[in-house]
Amino acid sequence: MTSPPTFLGMPPFPEAARSAVSNPQLRHNLRKATHTIRDKRAHVVGELSDWAELRAAGAAIKDRTLRRLDEYLLAAEAAVAAAGGTVHWAADAAEANRIVADLVRATGETEVVKVKSMVTQEIGLNEALAAEGIRAYETDLAELIVQLGDDLPSHILVPAIHRNRAEIREIFVREMAEWGVPAPPGLSDEPAALAEAARRHLRERFLSAKVAVSGANFLVAETGTLVVVESEGNGRMCLTLPETLISVVGIEKVVPTWADLEVFLQLLPRSSTGERMNPYTSMWTGVTPGDGPRDFHLVLLDNGRTDVLADTTGRQALRCIRCSACLNVCPVYERTGGHAYGSVYPGPIGAILVPQLRGVATGKVDPQTASLPYASSLCGACYEVCPVAIDIPEVLVHLREQVVEGGGHRAERAAMRAAEWVFDDAKRLRTVQRVAARSRRLLPRRAPGPGAAWSDSRALPEVPAQSFRDWWVRERGAPPARPPAAPAQPPVEKNRIEEDDR
Ligand code: SF4
Repeated sequence: MTSPPTFLGMPPFPEAARSAVSNPQLRHNLRKATHTIRDKRAHVVGELSDWAELRAAGAAIKDRTLRRLDEYLLAAEAAVAAAGGTVHWAADAAEANRIVADLVRATGETEVVKVKSMVTQEIGLNEALAAEGIRAYETDLAELIVQLGDDLPSHILVPAIHRNRAEIREIFVREMAEWGVPAPPGLSDEPAALAEAARRHLRERFLSAKVAVSGANFLVAETGTLVVVESEGNGRMCLTLPETLISVVGIEKVVPTWADLEVFLQLLPRSSTGERMNPYTSMWTGVTPGDGPRDFHLVLLDNGRTDVLADTTGRQALRCIRCSACLNVCPVYERTGGHAYGSVYPGPIGAILVPQLRGVATGKVDPQTASLPYASSLCGACYEVCPVAIDIPEVLVHLREQVVEGGGHRAERAAMRAAEWVFDDAKRLRTVQRVAARSRRLLPRRAPGPGAAWSDSRALPEVPAQSFRDWWVRERGAPPARPPAAPAQPPVEKNRIEEDDR
């Protein structure tokens, strides 16, 4: 086996994006796929007169849960244990990978089947298992295409969105035999034929696998029930046929009650696949003798999430239910695709979640991570479609501030300091305004250096011949009177966790 592809060492976003946008086939594939899904979503969301209320309820439930996350996690742990499961806590990716590898080794197996799971990609589980001599087989169709193609995922919901039918056929014909049942002779690139080839290839895996690894969309604290929402039925196979099931779940996936879950089961399918309800919703609680896996392990993963929780603005990102609606409407994602973001979480949610998980608040992140909050035009389309109302533009601006404070973007920091120095003093501001007004004919119409690319596509504002203040004095003979000072207001801290909410 060749070494697996990795996002490690990817260049910063502008560099990666430049190469992506110069690929016309990729742009065609992305445009077609994102527009199809976004149109379907808009249609089914438009059918619900109470969508705004549902959205507000989803955001409120997530915020309430995050405020008392410690309590709900302990309740979930107790419920899973009472139902015969075993709970493991993993502080980071290395610990989670070690726990899963140990559990698989204890079964004596060297192969596992996998349900599509973002969190296991986040921790690099397949690669960690491969290093231990354990082969992980992806069973979601798009993940299978990515795995067989020795590729990287480029979308949360449709990881092979950058591939078209002809490319998928070629991958199946070339690679399936090495991984199990080969592609049928004369395979065409018709969707039904490709799906049938994948079905035949995967069926052998489902029937022989003794261990499965999954993530979960939700974990209901009151009963310890895990929920996987999917469209193909591969998840149902993995969750019921093997003897041992290991589920790796981020700690933010917990919801307190079944009544809370109901809200998300309405929000998620419409936002992700544009369906009124998804075809398969699998739920399991611990183990049931004679039914499904005999051994169940839940690995609860932090991997930076408690640090995100500590940031009163950035913690909104933990509401995310990974529907990918924000990717499908993002004008930047539509042109670059997901690989340019250098992470398993691409698009607008990746631009706010990944820097936080990697510790941007500490000021010590690599240039690729520091470039992510800038991978946006701040148009706000992502916020409009987000089913849990994450104000992604607000978090992007907040993270840009952290990047600048941490020493990144020196030119921007220097410009902001200069502006602060000028605006801080009325005399200085007046002097600068008068100098700029007198020399305005000499000022360039094109920004110098790297700023030229920016000013080439925009009209730079003209410097006025006089400031408003000078105009007023000339017209009225005295400076405008200052308004009386407003009475001091107590500061309001947005998104503050109230201790008495607990
Ligand atoms: S940020 Fe919102 S729109 Fe984007 S994937 Fe998460 S829940 Fe969906």
